[in-house]
Amino acid sequence: MTETYDVIVIGLGGMGSAAAYHLARGGHRVLGLERFTPAHSNGSSHGGSRIIRQSYFEDPAYVPLLLRAYELWERLARDAGDEVYRLTGGLYVGPPECVTVAGSIRASREWSLPHDLLDAREIRTRFPNFTPEPHFIGLYEELAGFARPERTVAAHLRLAAAHGATLRFGEVVESWRDSGTGVTVSTASGTYTAGRLVICPGAWAPGLLADLGVEIDIERQVMYWLQPDTGAERFEHDPIYIAENDSGAQIYGFPAIDGPDGGVKTAFFRKGIRCTPDTIDRTVHPAEIDEMRTRVGELLPALNGPAVHAATCMYSNTADQHFVIARHPAHHSVTVACGFSGHGFKFVPVVGEILAELAMTGTTRHPIDLFAPQRLVSL
Ligand SMILES: Cc1cc2nc3c(=O)[nH]c(=O)nc-3n(C[C@H](O)[C@H](O)[C@H](O)COP(=O)(O)OP(=O)(O)OC[C@H]3O[C@@H](n4cnc5c(N)ncnc54)[C@H](O)[C@@H]3O)c2cc1C
Repeated sequence: MTETYDVIVIGLGGMGSAAAYHLARGGHRVLGLERFTPAHSNGSSHGGSRIIRQSYFEDPAYVPLLLRAYELWERLARDAGDEVYRLTGGLYVGPPECVTVAGSIRASREWSLPHDLLDAREIRTRFPNFTPEPHFIGLYEELAGFARPERTVAAHLRLAAAHGATLRFGEVVESWRDSGTGVTVSTASGTYTAGRLVICPGAWAPGLLADLGVEIDIERQVMYWLQPDTGAERFEHDPIYIAENDSGAQIYGFPAIDGPDGGVKTAFFRKGIRCTPDTIDRTVHPAEIDEMRTRVGELLPALNGPAVHAATCMYSNTADQHFVIARHPAHHSVTVACGFSGHGFKFVPVVGEILAELAMTGTTRHPIDLFAPQRLVSL
């Protein structure tokens, strides 16, 4: 027998779990379908931490979404009774004219966000683990920190279920169809119908959203947990950071949040190789670890010990690195969220709210013009 719902959500990772929660909270009958287990580590929402920040160097247009996301992060933590995020402060450092620093200054000035500008000597004094080059400067913002991706996904799923959502795991969506008056979704074990469909496929977008006509490049990324030579304690109270060098290469990292033996997490930003979810090399090779240690050692010389852990993850990159969030241009009943280009997690709660609004009413109160898929089809 075909089961019928108000709305079906395909993919219960970062964005889909938040959409399912907001839809169920709004009183709709929701079915969520996920190919893996809850909060799994095969997609893009795992690895223990994701930077959250407001002085958004990528584009100041993201700031109003971040302000709403922060309200929703707070509400999620309260409703879930879990530390899904933590504020640690954030330091963005590099040559004054680089994207990371100049862009952060631009966004914080445009939106009057509280921040401090520091020269290299002030950075070394205030954050003694950091040794920026003498000509580097930094923007420090107090309202930055990290979210915990697995706990966030688990919290949204738990709350969605508490609001009555039906969530099915280990169920791969094989196809979906828009009949004009509703949608039909098929998996190996069933066929489901609904008035609306929300598709949040992460790195599986090139298959599930092929007819969107948007090119999305899937990229293998690596996260590293390095052991400081003098113990992790001295990194416990550091801010999160993004650092750009004179060549424009960016790294980022976190304070020590995984205990004395958990290492300190760091990674390259946007340095990956093309892959697919089926072909990604999940092995992290010794040469990669050496390269990371060398690069992070330029900024944090004490972070010099061996890697205690390393893991791979996937970015879903659009051509301009902005998201795709919209009603599907060819299918009135279908709403899509994909192409988060390595910087989507901090927006998870507000994307859930946007998707719920778009799916059920066709519009949203939030500014999302930047994310229209049409901009990429004509590129
Ligand atoms: C290493 C790394 C570091 C990052 N750092 C940051 C950061 O510091 N700050 C930040 O804001 N962002 C960061 N990001 C980006 C952020 O994590 C992603 O933008 C976000 O997690 C994407 O969420 P998603 O819901 O699109 O994808 P996912 O969370 O991967 O969800 C997609 C889901 O769809 C499911 N699915 C796909 N196809 C099917 C199907 N056919 N049937 C059923 N289910 C299906 C998948 O199994 C998956 O669960 C980082 C990403 C990576 C990889």
